[in-house]
Amino acid sequence: MNPDTPCPCGSGRPLAACCGPYLAGAALPPDAEALMRSRYSAYVLGDEAYLLTTWHPDTRPPSLDLDQGPATKWLGLAVKRHEDDGDGRATVEFVARYKIGGRAHRLHETSRFLREGGRWLYLGGNSA
Ligand SMILES: [Zn+2]
Repeated sequence: MNPDTPCPCGSGRPLAACCGPYLAGAALPPDAEALMRSRYSAYVLGDEAYLLTTWHPDTRPPSLDLDQGPATKWLGLAVKRHEDDGDGRATVEFVARYKIGGRAHRLHETSRFLREGGRWLYLGGNSA
């Protein structure tokens, strides 16, 4: 992938200066919002390994198959809110837009994250 590619998370920065180093395992996302954005980018790029690595073991599915079913075309991400309680727990509210088979969908979710051993992990989310 061209490092000058705009980051799929919509930050306006190139992939190499945004989610790229997290996806490559070269750096750890400093906060839950950065992790959430990098996970969105991983969905766009089909990086199942990254999604599983950043999923909390308590809630992580045994495997992911993003190629299964009708193709999802991700259209954009908007982060609405990021709350960090300073004690290793954070929530991020976001809206992700995507299309399946030409039909537009909108996912509005509040995701919960935990920091363990210095790494932020995705715990789960509630769709609105
Ligand atoms: Zn990004």
